[in-house]
Amino acid sequence: MKKNGVVYLVGAGPGDPGLITQKGLKRLESCDALVYDSLASDCFLDKVPDHCRKIYAGKRAGAHSMKQEEINRLLVDLAQEGLNVVRLKGGDPFVFGRGGEEISALLKAEIPFEVVPGVTSAVAALSMAGIPVTHRAVSRSFHVMTGHTVSENGTLPPDFDSFAKLSGTLVFLMGLFNLPLIVNGLIKNGKPACTPAAVIENGTLPQQRTVRGTLADIEERAKQAEIKSPAIIVAGDVAALDFSSTINLPLKGCRIGITGTDSFTARFNQELLSLGAITDSVLTLSIQSSRLGDEMKEVYKELRTYSWLILTSANAVREFFAGLLEGGYDLRSLGGIKFAVIGKGTESELLKSGFHADYIPERYQVKDLAQGLISRLTKEERLLIPRSAGGSPELNLAFDEAGVYYDDKVLYEVVLKEKEQEHMEKSLAPLHYLTFASASGVDAFFQREKALSLPVSLKVVCIGDITAKALSSYGREADLIASVYSVSGLTEVICQDWCRKKE
Ligand code: SAH
Repeated sequence: MKKNGVVYLVGAGPGDPGLITQKGLKRLESCDALVYDSLASDCFLDKVPDHCRKIYAGKRAGAHSMKQEEINRLLVDLAQEGLNVVRLKGGDPFVFGRGGEEISALLKAEIPFEVVPGVTSAVAALSMAGIPVTHRAVSRSFHVMTGHTVSENGTLPPDFDSFAKLSGTLVFLMGLFNLPLIVNGLIKNGKPACTPAAVIENGTLPQQRTVRGTLADIEERAKQAEIKSPAIIVAGDVAALDFSSTINLPLKGCRIGITGTDSFTARFNQELLSLGAITDSVLTLSIQSSRLGDEMKEVYKELRTYSWLILTSANAVREFFAGLLEGGYDLRSLGGIKFAVIGKGTESELLKSGFHADYIPERYQVKDLAQGLISRLTKEERLLIPRSAGGSPELNLAFDEAGVYYDDKVLYEVVLKEKEQEHMEKSLAPLHYLTFASASGVDAFFQREKALSLPVSLKVVCIGDITAKALSSYGREADLIASVYSVSGLTEVICQDWCRKKE
């Protein structure tokens, strides 16, 4: 019989991806299956190994969500398959996280488990809003309650009266819907109407908003500000304090739409979030690999016959080396080969596999790559170009013209992620920037959004000229082009533009 895997119940923290624990991250990095829900940041999806099965179990915009019993069953089933499972939950798994129910199911099925605590929003959202949950001589205790009851008919939890009489900081999770009841209940139980109160939306995230007031007016103020879930309600004298950070992040208030593969989106997202931007994954692409297809198998077998390997994207580098090892070969097959790369991102990816690039064009364009290489070649050289389907024909044209021998092989294809095949109405209007990281990303976007014209106020940002050219073919010019083909290249042009705008 297969040995059961372990289930790790991991707290993802309150939203900011930097607030997961080191231990939680370690568990993510080595799991075989990930069961996650919507409070946990999408950034974590990129932390798991390639082979990891990712299963979404939460609620998102009206979509069907799994029932708790189904999730319990799923965790047991996965572990019984012998997989090590991370069950990722927003905040701390036990703070209104139903972690206990999942553990009971695991205990019953005799599945080994471990709990990795998380930073709870009940404290962290307050901290980030500048509200200390306790403060010397102001509040000596804090109490966390759900503002949501099982009955769902607008009643508060039965022990609310005694809760309301406590003198410390009162924190309500899941209480936005019941805000009027909560406020009235507190006043009815003796809290002065002038007691400071606050509502914090999206705590610890760049889009965090805080509304402050007193019990008398917080409901009206939250309504005016159109505060939405997830939000936390705080009542008590500490809610009048403001210790919010004095550091101003360069992309604060800037809304950026991202298109790209999961792994690109996660890396870009993390970088942008750390600079204070608000991000939205507009479209996700996935890589369909042919690295072990017949064509590539033949290529790996014949590697010694090539003198140059041309790599035009970081994805191509990753795919090529993964295929090499999986095909049963290793770096020795590349002994005499030289490498040409299109730009910085590709160069640093190649370096990760232990090779310096022999040639990078000064300008990161296909034409320059071709011309530069041609001037370095001798007659007998054979070039190998393993790249994505639909790669730029400019390379072929230039090599054909110069009479260079090359093999252009399909290593992978960039396709729309399955769940996004159907048209998803997503408004681009609130965005300041929309980013494209590849020509295939541009094609996928316009194929899905045929009828959609991009708002004029939206600035379109492309990595490199090839991507910008693809955009032009759909009748829109790029507003900004990153000449450094990497996440930091894109980030830099946006930062420069955003800061100019603010001046
Ligand atoms: N286990 C989680 C709480 C889950 S209950 C934790 O420890 O944080 C879900 C509720 O938590 C939401 O309705 C909201 O009240 C609160 N919440 C979670 N994340 C939040 C955030 N980033 N900002 C504000 N409230 C949040």
